[in-house]
Amino acid sequence: MYQYTQHYINGQWVDSTGDETIDVINPATEEKIGEISSGTKEDLDKAVQAARDAFPDFSQTTKEERAALLDRIADEYEKRKDKFIEVIMAELGSPVTFTKEVQYPMGLNHFRTAAKLVRDFAFIEERENSFIQKDAIGVAGLITPWNFPTNQTSTKLASAFAAGSTVVLKPSTETPFAAILLTEVFEAAGVPKGVFNLVNGTGSTIGDGISSHPDIDFVSFTGSGGVGTKIMENAAQDIKKVSLELGGKSPIVVLDDADVDYAAKTAISHIAGNTGQVCTAGTRALVPKSMHDDFIEAIKSHISEYPVGDPKDESTFTGPQVSEEQWKTVQDYIQKGIDSGATLVTGGTGKPEGLETGYYSKLTVFTDVKADDTIAQEEIFGPVLSVITYKDLDEAIDIANGTIYGLAGYVVGNNPDTVTHVAKSLRSGRIVVNNEKSDFTAPFGGFKQSGIGREWGDYGIEEFLEPKTIVGLPK
Ligand code: NAD
Repeated sequence: MYQYTQHYINGQWVDSTGDETIDVINPATEEKIGEISSGTKEDLDKAVQAARDAFPDFSQTTKEERAALLDRIADEYEKRKDKFIEVIMAELGSPVTFTKEVQYPMGLNHFRTAAKLVRDFAFIEERENSFIQKDAIGVAGLITPWNFPTNQTSTKLASAFAAGSTVVLKPSTETPFAAILLTEVFEAAGVPKGVFNLVNGTGSTIGDGISSHPDIDFVSFTGSGGVGTKIMENAAQDIKKVSLELGGKSPIVVLDDADVDYAAKTAISHIAGNTGQVCTAGTRALVPKSMHDDFIEAIKSHISEYPVGDPKDESTFTGPQVSEEQWKTVQDYIQKGIDSGATLVTGGTGKPEGLETGYYSKLTVFTDVKADDTIAQEEIFGPVLSVITYKDLDEAIDIANGTIYGLAGYVVGNNPDTVTHVAKSLRSGRIVVNNEKSDFTAPFGGFKQSGIGREWGDYGIEEFLEPKTIVGLPK
């Protein structure tokens, strides 16, 4: 059992001022694996005060000192590799292979990248008669979701520490233990007291408390659009800066010269990876009419290469949904797809055979989906793919850009001119051509209702800074 009913405030673990707790469930077994405190507004106030008190000193440290701190954090993170893998598997139901290859290194990469970039970061700029100094923004409130327990927390924390901001973190109640392990990392790395504070609790108390707190200068949020709206409404009351990383409904544009097996496998991997619980997942495969039948045959022949099952099994590709609530949401969307008249290629409602315990869904692919169908417009956050055909590239681009979202987009094909034209025409924050690997130095974030602001690398550091112009500074 993971029993962590304290908060981390001002460099130490302290009891909550309330006595309510929240159970944490392993979604693969449906068993309780631990509990955390359901923090109170008083707990939050103490954490914000600690962050405020630590800000004057931390914001004046040199970038070399902060880079060295980030390197020590990355070293301590690496020492706890096995613990991170164990915790993320238990709280998220993330399959062991995916956890080792994707979940674990993502958090680490943000700290290493920030350490490297901050050393060369221009905190001072001189132009004509102005001296521009980028100051740390102040106290940042960080609110994170459950789908990548160390990625979302680490990208925010690495940028904040690089900039010289102090923080209060509220992680998701579904996956709080990876954040508790990160706290252990920060203690071992010597993060000064008050620079990092952790308060566990509900969105309605701690999350809402952060976005409306008068002593918080900036809210960095990753999560759903509905909560993003509430955060903006609260932050608007005292003109607090917000950064929002929200949902997506990303297209995979398959070009007519693409290898059909490669394209089908790309599409399946998007809904199978992390059980489709990925904000950037390509969940709409746009294929030329002429390729449709071959594409569907390729989906059918490759789907068994992505087995759904026990996260502890090395061969498992797809685990359970994070919670019963998410499982029900996914089931409702699959039913909506059936009701809309789309053709079920594989999967469907219910649990896969032999997986009655655990919040498992079937990998589900629909074809004959219309671009404006609900399943092609709304984020499902589960293993559901919509295949939509297009007659020419203009129509493909229109369909690709035809949702309220703009987080990511994918192009699969070979002709360099066509690939370039399509990639440059997509209205999204991150476009990936032929499964190219991630670049942690490049900005991450969304157009349209996928969010405001950017994370990762130097763009992420910028979010935690305020530029100040001084004209007439004596030389
Ligand atoms: P969520 O919005 O329900 O919760 C996210 C966080 O907000 C949690 O810590 C939650 O406790 C907190 N919260 C809930 N109500 C709040 C309130 N009123 N005020 C402040 N905070 C509150 O999202 P989720 O279910 O945890 O995550 C899934 C969503 O996150 C999906 O929509 C997904 O697309 C999105 N997401 C986006 C990105 C990105 O980078 N763009 C990355 C991962 C996930």
